[in-house]
Amino acid sequence: MAKDYYKVLGVDKSASEDEIKSAYRKLAKKYHPDLNKDNPDAADKFKEINEAYEVLSDSQKRKNYDQFGSADGPQFSGFNGGGANGGGFSGFDFSGGFDDIFGDIFSAFGGTRSRRTRAYRGEDINLSLNITLKEACLGTTKTITLTRVETCPKCSGTGAKDGTKFSTCPDCKGAGRVRYQQNTIFGTTIREGECQTCGGTGKVIKEKCPYCQGKGVVRVQKNIDVKIPAGIDNDQILKMTGQGNAPSRPGTNGDLNIKMSVIADKLLTRKGNDLYIDVYVPFTTLILGGEIVVPTLEGEFNLAIKELTQSGTVMRIKVKGSKILHRESRGDLLVTLKAESPKSLDKKSKEVLKTLAESISISNYPKYKKYMDTSKEVK
Ligand SMILES: [Zn+2]
Ligand SMILES: [Zn+2]
Repeated sequence: MAKDYYKVLGVDKSASEDEIKSAYRKLAKKYHPDLNKDNPDAADKFKEINEAYEVLSDSQKRKNYDQFGSADGPQFSGFNGGGANGGGFSGFDFSGGFDDIFGDIFSAFGGTRSRRTRAYRGEDINLSLNITLKEACLGTTKTITLTRVETCPKCSGTGAKDGTKFSTCPDCKGAGRVRYQQNTIFGTTIREGECQTCGGTGKVIKEKCPYCQGKGVVRVQKNIDVKIPAGIDNDQILKMTGQGNAPSRPGTNGDLNIKMSVIADKLLTRKGNDLYIDVYVPFTTLILGGEIVVPTLEGEFNLAIKELTQSGTVMRIKVKGSKILHRESRGDLLVTLKAESPKSLDKKSKEVLKTLAESISISNYPKYKKYMDTSKEVK
């Protein structure tokens, strides 16, 4: 079961972005592990708060989360918040927002901010994928080709020739961190931060890797098999964790987010998990009864029509709709029958129909009779 992220942040389901942000700031300050050294549960709570915020602060992730509720959709965004970095708070990537929120407390504490190695994360790749209605309803596997940034295989991402040609960073003497003075509203403080020269590694490259020109990453064309789950709908995003770009320094890969673009089908339309079709039927078939052929996701279906069926009747073919995402069940196929009058009539048919019309009394048309008996004055 996924957690109730709204409960975690103590906000209402309809909370605005600002309300969510403010609730997050309050809780994150309260439970930050650096300020709760005596409370071992704080770290877990902190992690949970960050996980909830990561989802609810991102409108697309929040939308997916709202839509799927607690359904366990391991491939969907919103269900693996922080998962890639799972091992404790030191692994979270705050993408700059961290300093923004906590900068003031840490300065106030005179720079007691704990040593945290920054986790690098590659960029996400976002793309959209065209799929047919049938593929969306029944699921499929598609191979897509994309160009992504991968860790250089020759230097294992270090950027140094053969992964070995390093020398100690002259600025931090190999410590990876430097102390610097900062002026804040609390006065001048000494803060410690990552060494900019070596990016915290303590080492600088002596000879660049010729394969990646020292970047540590290369662009590679890749074929990726995308398993599209049955029941996915238009505009939903399939998240493939870790399949995005590699970061420029050792860390976590970004994600691959694939937005589904379902091509409209000529015959069937989809609403939720049900499929719909309007079928025009000769008016005589509706009167006399018969059988029509209806298209389904799995071929043709023979639908029996009872005699004296009204035009506009909706017939439900059970479990011929879309599969339901992450469930065993399926939606239905709803067929709306519409009477079609003939485009032209020969003399003989006209005679027959005239005789027919005269032989059926108005009491056989209760709706029409009621309509005729009602005043036509619009009030
Ligand atoms: Zn390289
Ligand atoms: Zn350095």
